[in-house]
Amino acid sequence: MAEDVLQLPLQYLKGVGPRKAADLKKAGLNTVEDLLFRFPRRYEDRSKLQKIIALRPGMTAAISGTVLNAGLAHTRRPGFKLFSALVQDESGQIQAVWPNQAFLKDVIRSQQRIVMFGKVEIWGSRGLQITDPEFEIIKDGSREPGAGSPEDTEPQLHIGRIVPVYERTGSVTTNMQRRFVWQALEQLPAGGFDPVPEDILKRERWPARHDALWQAHFPPSDAPVDDLNNFTTAAQRRLVFEDFFVFQTGLALRRKENAQVRKLLVSKVDDRIRQRSRDVLPFKLTAGQRDALLEIVTDMQKAWPMQRLLQGDVGAGKTIVALLAAVVAMENGFQVAVMAPTEILAEQHYRTIVKTLDLSRRSGAKADGKPYRVALLSGRVTAATRRDLLPAIERGEVNIVVGTQALVQAHVKFKALALVVIDEQHRFGVVQRGTLAAKGANPDVLVMTATPIPRTLALTECGDMEVSVIRGLPPGRQPIKTIVRADSRRDEAYALMREEIRRGRQVYVIYPLVEESEKIDLKAATAMCDEITRIFPEFSVALLHGRMKGDEKDAVMRRFLAGQLQILVSTTVVEVGVDVANATLMVVEHAERFGLSQLHQLRGRIGRGEHASTCMLLYQAPWSDDARERLKAMAETSDGFVIAERDLRLRGPGDFFGTRQHGLPALRAGDLLRDADLLERAFDEARTRVDNDTLTPALQDYVRSVWQRQFGLITVG
Ligand code: ADP
Ligand code: MG
Repeated sequence: MAEDVLQLPLQYLKGVGPRKAADLKKAGLNTVEDLLFRFPRRYEDRSKLQKIIALRPGMTAAISGTVLNAGLAHTRRPGFKLFSALVQDESGQIQAVWPNQAFLKDVIRSQQRIVMFGKVEIWGSRGLQITDPEFEIIKDGSREPGAGSPEDTEPQLHIGRIVPVYERTGSVTTNMQRRFVWQALEQLPAGGFDPVPEDILKRERWPARHDALWQAHFPPSDAPVDDLNNFTTAAQRRLVFEDFFVFQTGLALRRKENAQVRKLLVSKVDDRIRQRSRDVLPFKLTAGQRDALLEIVTDMQKAWPMQRLLQGDVGAGKTIVALLAAVVAMENGFQVAVMAPTEILAEQHYRTIVKTLDLSRRSGAKADGKPYRVALLSGRVTAATRRDLLPAIERGEVNIVVGTQALVQAHVKFKALALVVIDEQHRFGVVQRGTLAAKGANPDVLVMTATPIPRTLALTECGDMEVSVIRGLPPGRQPIKTIVRADSRRDEAYALMREEIRRGRQVYVIYPLVEESEKIDLKAATAMCDEITRIFPEFSVALLHGRMKGDEKDAVMRRFLAGQLQILVSTTVVEVGVDVANATLMVVEHAERFGLSQLHQLRGRIGRGEHASTCMLLYQAPWSDDARERLKAMAETSDGFVIAERDLRLRGPGDFFGTRQHGLPALRAGDLLRDADLLERAFDEARTRVDNDTLTPALQDYVRSVWQRQFGLITVG
């Protein structure tokens, strides 16, 4: 069966030994299928052979001829070897040269027939030469390019056709890959299993899998090369669709499986609870907040656990939405856990929750007459308090537990945990998320993220989650003014700092810290802090960075929160979720080094209060085009979703989350930017088919096996 060949390890191919297999594995290529789904980076039309007499400087041309003489040429540069061959066709002769490839003397010999593809250049006064061309020696009995191929001779892979050009992987050159792919395709039987359903193939007029794979790697000679290079041929699109479709089907199956899990605690909503929520509310919800809340509360009333992502820019007002959901759970007599990534954020949430719920007590206590009991589980809580808290939580006397993820997950037993709220998750992924919700009675899970994610990324990253998006900001917010300045004009920044602080405001100065050069950067950040201290002797200045111990960091942050510090010089540790409404100016040093989404996150630390805020981005020349684009985007918009789309465009999906190792699944052949329309379609098709139960058993089996292989332990369906 076709799948069998596809699932064979690559070592099975002739020419792939342990070393090459290891190199391929490093690039994520384990099986024949992996290899075949690694598309060429581009295609070159080497099908039309040129006559030597027609060659002109600057052309990239394929020619075919006979080697008249060949050998190592002497050069004056010591250690430099030039291999050259004089090649003749019926129209003329040309010199071909290969710098530093002395081994060619055992490969290219006089009287051989050769085809070459390369760049034609002027060679001093002596005419034209073709430099470092790709070549193939035509063995006796093998076919001329373009002629029919007798069964037992080596095919012309590298010239005389539209040739696929692959990215080199370790020791595996593009030529080798071409040979491996050819070999794999030759062994692939026609008419095997096709994961793309028949009706879709018919409707789209897409070729079957076997044909598509052939055409995507070794296109027929009449294929339009431009379409190939734009990845818009039917064969390519079909394979990209397949990739997305199989992955999305896996997600849809997992989602369906989630819906078969029963939760023990199902919330109900009645008029009393609605009134309670209104009592808690300190302001009018925006339309976006109302919609999101409705989606969440609808999920909470279902029999299976909610898995919902609440996306909204910094300051969009996610907290109150989560808190209202918590009120619904608590009014049902259930418990809620709120988890934050850091102690400071946990404390901040604790304060907000206590304050908001406290306000509401003015208009009446909760149903049973007692106020809600909110507990903070942080590293700063004393052992004695913990000893009291844990049993109280277990007895169900505490309504909301707030803490860091580690704390809440490790120690706490709940009596009736119905809702888990996870805040500010920057890194979450389908694969890693696995067992998040496995605590207790299959609670509802609400993940809040302040990283706006472009829809295409959300579809791959969270395709099995439901997504609610709050767009825009609550009314009355002062927009942040963003200024981009060369570092040489930092006096302006200092003047602005002085002005803001004199008005009673506080200032962030952000310094980049790149992991590779952490030590140097830390020194620079420290020096910057010293300089600022020198320039502003009348203000208090402190430094915050990731190398500090947790409690040192917290101490500095607390002083800033309390208004005891005027200037906080910080690396990006201040990025996440911190809310200091009185901070109205942010100066970003070396802004050219930051990613766009990161800059946006940083900027979200200001503009959180009633006062107008300014963000000054200082860059050091020379800056790259990309850096210019990023800073321009920052100045132009403060819409996190617009910024996220631009960032995706600038950086590409693999880098979007700030790490190349992110390993986005389902992107073997597809590209989130180029193939966004196919992803949408794959998502719709997969969901509909899974929800309507119209997947064939063969396809279900196939999807399960792919998921198993690609993501290991995770089970689907
Ligand atoms: P984020 O989405 O970044 O977590 P928050 O929930 O912290 O945002 O909200 C930011 C600020 O906006 C808070 O001070 C909050 O009280 C306020 N806020 C939220 N929603 C509204 C609203 N509908 N009207 C007025 N202010 C609001
Ligand atoms: Mg928040």
